[in-house]
Amino acid sequence: MELVDSHIHLHEYGDFWVRYCDGRYLLVAVSDDLDSSFKTLEISRKCSFVVPAVGVHPWNAERALPEEVLPRVEKLVVEERVRVLGEVGLDRAFQAETYDAQMKLFLGFLKIARDYELGMNIHAAGAWREVFNLIKSYRIPTAIFHWYTGPHDLLNEIVAEGYFIGINPAVIIQKKHEEVLRRAPLEAILTESDGPYKYRGLTLGPEMLKDLVNKIAEVKSVSPEVVVEQVRRNFITFRSNLSR
Ligand SMILES: [Zn+2]
Repeated sequence: MELVDSHIHLHEYGDFWVRYCDGRYLLVAVSDDLDSSFKTLEISRKCSFVVPAVGVHPWNAERALPEEVLPRVEKLVVEERVRVLGEVGLDRAFQAETYDAQMKLFLGFLKIARDYELGMNIHAAGAWREVFNLIKSYRIPTAIFHWYTGPHDLLNEIVAEGYFIGINPAVIIQKKHEEVLRRAPLEAILTESDGPYKYRGLTLGPEMLKDLVNKIAEVKSVSPEVVVEQVRRNFITFRSNLSR
């Protein structure tokens, strides 16, 4: 049965993305900027297991002019039938100094997502509450809160809205992420790798999803098979929430 990678930068693997496209994985491929958005779309045209997400990462917000980026992203949504924006959001933990530029861009993405009923693949380090409030007020139909490490009360609100919590292999060594895993119901969890990102000596990637499934099974006191099946169901729910 397929493992779910709900957040991977497939465009960063060069030609090697094909190794993840042999049916073992169901993937949401996120983009970092306009160039990588085009690459992600190209990959998704060749691989039916990939749901493409386009957009500009908050870390690149300062280099992106909203008046240039937003119409081009909207064009991709219309012409290429893109149904997810990502990796988009706000970051006050690692890039507080560009917060204003991030906000300008993110508000534009929210408007596009609302108008076309798109899902969002969210980066919200240090800005979890702000991003959730915006997503809720724009009535975004579905969203994945990638690598969630935010407050526990907010976690409950995100789950109550029917949005998804991304659990990353870093959970094996990152205590605050493990606490999120303990509190999040299995029905709200999507596994992810964030590959090829490196975190404290871990080279993240789909190869780590098996260990991740085992860790989730251990924490939830169920078998790995139950985890794989439920996460796959969650992924199908996510996909069915997307318009068209
Ligand atoms: Zn990412």
